Parts: sequence; structure tokens; C-alpha cells
Amino acid sequence: MSFTSVRAGRIEAASKYCSSVFRVIDMFPVVVVHGGAGHIPKERSEKSMSGLCSAARAGYVILRGGGSSMDAVVEVVRQLENNPSFNAGCGSVLNAKGEVEMDAIVMDGKALGSGAVSGVCNIANPIQLARLVMNKTSHVCLTSEGANQFARSMGVPEVPPESLITEYSRMRWTKNLAVDADPVECQMGKMGTVGAVAVDSEGNVACATSTGGMLNKMEGRVGDTPCIGSGGYADNLVGAVSTTGHGEAIMKVTLARLILFHMEQGQSVEAASDLGLAYMKSRVGGLGGVVTVDPRGHWAARFSSHQMAWAAAQKDTVHYGLYSGENFTQSIDDPL
Ligand code: ASP
Repeated sequence: MSFTSVRAGRIEAASKYCSSVFRVIDMFPVVVVHGGAGHIPKERSEKSMSGLCSAARAGYVILRGGGSSMDAVVEVVRQLENNPSFNAGCGSVLNAKGEVEMDAIVMDGKALGSGAVSGVCNIANPIQLARLVMNKTSHVCLTSEGANQFARSMGVPEVPPESLITEYSRMRWTKNLAVDADPVECQMGKMGTVGAVAVDSEGNVACATSTGGMLNKMEGRVGDTPCIGSGGYADNLVGAVSTTGHGEAIMKVTLARLILFHMEQGQSVEAASDLGLAYMKSRVGGLGGVVTVDPRGHWAARFSSHQMAWAAAQKDTVHYGLYSGENFTQSIDDPL
């Protein structure tokens, strides 16, 4: 399905990074996006899919115009954070206290630059704050009040935490307080964590992931998303991964880095993603999903959960799906 062949690219020595490294140029940029692993109610699937396709298009337009993979993944995730259909930014699930606590990460494959935030509650776009952590501090992750202080110092506007809470997330929080809450749904959280990986025309890879976490999580719980190697990883020498699913399981197997390890061993993006997900299921009983790219523009969207909404844009075509085996396509020029 998602193993897309690319035109053989011209290669040149990338002496800027390492004299023995070769970089593929003149290749097909790609962006791959997910909207969370788990179960998506039927009445919400159409909105989620169209939000994902339009975000993938926006990322692709950046890449097609010569923009960087980092610019593309941050823009994609920013758009999805602003879309209340997803469990990130506005629309985040609520913790046990009925409050929003969001996590996000970015990683740039060029020099392994990474930035993350956890436990933020009054920022509309945690993904942009994560990028600022990467670019403006010597740290990799800032949490809760320290992250808020940093946001203030960077001039990032604060928003009232209630403005990030939708009627739907409040309703689900109330419902899950009931004793007969569905344990599978609790484990998988509300579908809707968002993430993206991309390769730009220079062969640079990047990832970005953002989430409200797990429904009814304990206050202060930090999930996989802001943890480097778990919620995402990007390395120009191997590829990039953004993950979604049961955060505790993802952390136990460092899923993003595990998949890249399999790619280093010669596995394709698709096989490596499946191997990582299968290991997480058999070793710790966790379900989830991933989007994966390698620097040549091969890509995959794979999941062990019931569903994962995903979209990918490459060669002026948008691919998308929700259930296993689906791969619908539309032209980038088709009206939305
Ligand atoms: N991985 C996220 C978390 O555990 C949830 C998700 O992807 O749905 O915080």
C-alpha cells in the first residue's frame, strides 16, 4: 500500500554533515500525517479525514515550494491542533481533574535537534513552543510551569485553558468517570493525537507530534509524545517516525527509535514499522500506530489498533485511509 517507489535520485557527498555520508537530491518530497490510533466514532470520521487531508496538502505545498521538512511538519500539526476534531491543542482530552495538559515534540534529522514540552495548559499551539525549545534553548524538554514561563518570555500568547476544552471532550470526560467506562477506550484514549513526518527536496527528514494525552490520565502524567525516541524521532541517516497509541507501552519499547533501528538493519519503512508495532503488542500488550519515512521519500502509515486516520502527499497526489489496507487517492488539484 504505502511503499511508494521514487525516481532514483542523483547523489552527492554531504560533506557538511559527515564526509562518508551520501545524500539523495532531486527526489520527491513527501509529508505523512496521522490523526491518532484507536477507535473513531463513525459520525466523526469524515471531519477527521478531511482535516487530515487538508493539513497534508498544506504541508505538501510548503515542500513543493522548496520549504524545509521542519516547516512542513510544524505547519501540519499546528493546523490539526487548531482543529477541534483532534486530541491536540483545542479538543484535547481531559485529565482526571477535568483539565487540559498537553505534550508535544519536534525533531530535525539534520543535526538531531529536538525540542519538546509537557504538561502545558494555556498555549494554543504546543508544537510551536516545542520548536522554540529546540531553537532557543540548550535543552530538549521543558515542562508545566517552566514551559509556560518560557512561552511568556518568547512572547507566545497565553489562552484561557477553558478555551481549549470542547463540549465533546467535556462529555467524554464525564462519561468516562462512570463505573462502566469501556476499558479498551480508556486504554487507547480518545482518538486524535496528531503527528507528521516529512522529507524535503534536500533529503532532510523531520517529525512533529502533539497530544492532549490519555483520557482521564492522572494529573502530571507525562506520556510518550514529548519523550525523544518514543513520540517521535528523526535522523537524516535513517528516517523519521511519529507515533500514536498507548503512551506507556510506546515508552517501554521506545517505539520511534525501535522502528529506525530496524531500518538501519535494512528493513523497509513498512516492514520496520510493522516489526516495531508487533514487538510492542507482544512484549507489553500495547496498541498504536506510526507514520514513517526514509530520506529517499519512501513512506508508510501502519497501525495495530482498530483504526488510524492518516494522509500522505507526494507527487501531487494525496493518499488517505482509516482502516487497515485502505489507500484512497485524490489529486492535489481536486477541490477539498
Ligand atoms: N500517545 C498518546 C499518549 O499516550 C495518546 C495517543 O496517541 O492517542 O499520550
